[in-house]
Amino acid sequence: MDKEHLRKWKRSWCRKNRERLLPQRRQHAALYRMEHREELRTYAREYYRANNEKLKKRQNKRWRERCVQLKMGSTISIDNKPLYPTDERCKLCARKLKVRLIYHHWDDEHPEQGMWICYTCHHFAEGMDAGMEMKYKRLKGVK
Ligand SMILES: [Zn+2]
Repeated sequence: MDKEHLRKWKRSWCRKNRERLLPQRRQHAALYRMEHREELRTYAREYYRANNEKLKKRQNKRWRERCVQLKMGSTISIDNKPLYPTDERCKLCARKLKVRLIYHHWDDEHPEQGMWICYTCHHFAEGMDAGMEMKYKRLKGVK
């Protein structure tokens, strides 16, 4: 049997007996991790240092996708926050601006109930939520 053939046969055997080899492999991996702890740690540290910007950006993106600022001023992270609209248009005025939309919610108990709107509409929405509409109409003399 030539070497190439033997290698192929070995590989297919391993593939067929994957289930049987798994515990052994896991043990081996754990042992490897234990024996090369320092090495792996250095590698991880170096990887982090080299890809610092990239990793931070990814972390930042993940945070931005989930964070909601509460009325009290604190910011929390929720899993079910509505996604940033793919068309990047304000839900209220339907404009597409160069600046990012703002996530607006009206009830801290349900931060997942909200919408993505532009700056202008956000002021408007905040005013509405604060009951300014009535005051405005009263001042304007509208009955
Ligand atoms: Zn708008």
